[in-house]
Amino acid sequence: MQSDKCIFCKIARKDIPAKIVYEDDQVLAFEDAKPQAPVHVLIIPHDHIEKVSDLKEKDALIAGKVIMAAKNIARSKGLDDSGYRIVMNCNRDAGQEVFHVHAHLMGGRKFNWPPG
Ligand code: AMP
Ligand code: ZN
Repeated sequence: MQSDKCIFCKIARKDIPAKIVYEDDQVLAFEDAKPQAPVHVLIIPHDHIEKVSDLKEKDALIAGKVIMAAKNIARSKGLDDSGYRIVMNCNRDAGQEVFHVHAHLMGGRKFNWPPG
């Protein structure tokens, strides 16, 4: 299911452009419009699920596919040796801005811990 108003659903439908890095029948990966690292790719399920806290048991496979896509893209970008971060912001306190589940794959620089 997709949402008419959701910007990531529009990207998934190709209604608005994005620099697509990877796609299969369940997930889509594209470059973040405002990259915060040399590599900054967003990985989304095609299905419109608003946030991590809305995931159901039946979504376990798709959630795993998002992580596996992030890991495979990281490898293809040569990040295995240096490392990378995979981030999923859930809701207001985490700073979620787009309410369609997504993972950020970020790499190519050093990240601080704990995050701000
Ligand atoms: P979040 O705060 O986790 O919801 O992150 C949303 C991310 O989506 C931000 O890093 C934005 O830069 C990115 N973003 C928003 N609109 C677009 C777009 N049309 N194409 C690519 N990235 C986008
Ligand atoms: Zn959506």
